[in-house]
Amino acid sequence: MTITKFLLQWYSQNKRSLPWRETRDPYKIWLSEVILQQTRVAQGTDYYHRFLVAFPDVRSLAEADEQDVLKLWQGLGYYSRARNMHHTAQEVVEKHNGIFPDSSAGLKKLKGIGDYTAAAIASICFNEPTAVLDGNVARVISRLYAIIEPVDTNTGRKIITDLANSLLDTNHPGTFNQAVMELGALVCTPKSPSCDTCPLLFACEAMKTNRIESFPVKTPKKTPTLRHLNYLVISFMKNNKEFILMRKRTGNDIWKNMYDFPCIETESASDTADVLESCVKSGLLDGFPFIVKHVSDEYIHQLSHRRLLARFIRIEVQGMPMLYDDITFVKKAQIAELPLPRLIDRYFATLI
Ligand code: SF4
Repeated sequence: MTITKFLLQWYSQNKRSLPWRETRDPYKIWLSEVILQQTRVAQGTDYYHRFLVAFPDVRSLAEADEQDVLKLWQGLGYYSRARNMHHTAQEVVEKHNGIFPDSSAGLKKLKGIGDYTAAAIASICFNEPTAVLDGNVARVISRLYAIIEPVDTNTGRKIITDLANSLLDTNHPGTFNQAVMELGALVCTPKSPSCDTCPLLFACEAMKTNRIESFPVKTPKKTPTLRHLNYLVISFMKNNKEFILMRKRTGNDIWKNMYDFPCIETESASDTADVLESCVKSGLLDGFPFIVKHVSDEYIHQLSHRRLLARFIRIEVQGMPMLYDDITFVKKAQIAELPLPRLIDRYFATLI
C-alpha cells in the first residue's frame, strides 16, 4: 500500500488547519460537509462559524424557524441544502433522540444525506472503513489510474469508489478520505495540477502517459435552459412608509420558501409594455394608477442547470395593490431581513 502510505505522510505534513478538522462531533462534521458541497473553503468557513453560533447543536437547529435558517444560509445558494438540513435536524431529534446514526447505511436514511456525506461522517466520526467519492476524489483517482469511463456515470462512480476503497487505510479511514480530498484541493487541481510536488507522482498513470488534461473524463454537458424573468418591483406608500410587494416562493421550483418579487416569466426577452399588459391582466395592477420608474439592465444569474435572465421593472402605485396567492407587502426597510435569493439580493442592493 505504498500509495496510501505516501498519501497519508503528505497529508500529515501539508493539511490545512480547518475548524472541522478539530472535531469528530457528527453534527459539526455534517454541517461542514453540507456547507462545503458547493462552496469554497474560505467562504464556507465563515458560514460554518456563524451556524455554530446560531445553532450550536442539532437540537437548536431542529427548533429553529425555517426562515431563520434560510436567512443565515443566504448567499450560499442551493437553498434546498438548508431546507434539507433543517428537516434532517428535526428527524434526528424526533426519531433518534438527537443522536446521529453511527453508520453510513443509517445516515443515508436521513433526508438530504447521500452517499458522499454519509461516508464522510461515518468514516471521520465513527471510523467506518468506507471511501468517500466527491469531485476531488474522482479527479485524483481517475488521473492516478487513467480511468476512461466518465466519472459522472454509475459505472464510472463504481470504478472510482472500488479503487478508493482498495487504497483505504482501514485503521484511519477518516484521515485517508480527507487526505485524498486535500490532495485534490491543493495539488491535483482541475487546472494545472502541481505534479512536481505530488506524493503520488511515482504511480500516476495519467502523468506517465502525458495525458493529465484528458482526466477526469466526463459526459458532455447539456446546454443550460434559459429562463426569462420579468420582475415587478411594485411599491406604494402607506402612513408615510414605503412598502414593496414580495412573493413567497412555494411549489417545487427553485428557491422554495424564499422571497422574490411578483414575476412574469416569458419564453424570450419581452417588451416592458407587454409585461405590464400581462401584469394588468393578472389583476395585480388592475384599477390603480401606476408609473414605471425604472427598468433595470438584464441580470444574468447562473444556476447549475439553468441560466436566469432577469429584468426588474420598478413601478410606483397609488393606492394599495391587490394581494393574492403568495404575494404580500413588506416595509422596504425590512426586506433585507427576509431570506432572499442571491439574484434578488443583488438587485435589492441597488434599490435606493
Ligand atoms: S501526478 Fe499530477 S495528475 Fe497525477 S495524481 Fe499527482 S497531481 Fe494528480
